[in-house]
Amino acid sequence: MAIPQAPLSKDHRFHIDPDKCTGCLLCSLACSFIKTSAFGLSHSLVHIQRDLVRGSHERFRISFDDGCDGCGLCARYCNFDAIRGPQHGGSG
Ligand code: SF4
Ligand code: SF4
Repeated sequence: MAIPQAPLSKDHRFHIDPDKCTGCLLCSLACSFIKTSAFGLSHSLVHIQRDLVRGSHERFRISFDDGCDGCGLCARYCNFDAIRGPQHGGSG
């Protein structure tokens, strides 16, 4: 059964696939740095939360704050395609 996800971003330009999320937090660290010039999860506008654990497979919930401007940096730094957007892969 699919776990309901929070809205993607204000304009819903991202595709998210929580099954691919490893919880590495690179997206959150990248967001915090581009927005505040410092690494800190509390400054990130994308949030990764551990969800239900089923068997040996950890699951994570991906959500975005209202302040997300859709810049796409988090998608660019997600090496697992859990967040994908128009800027993914540098194709604009
Ligand atoms: S799109 Fe930009 S502002 Fe929004 S969560 Fe990702 S890095 Fe942060
Ligand atoms: S969405 Fe991608 S970058 Fe963010 S925690 Fe999950 S796997 Fe890592």
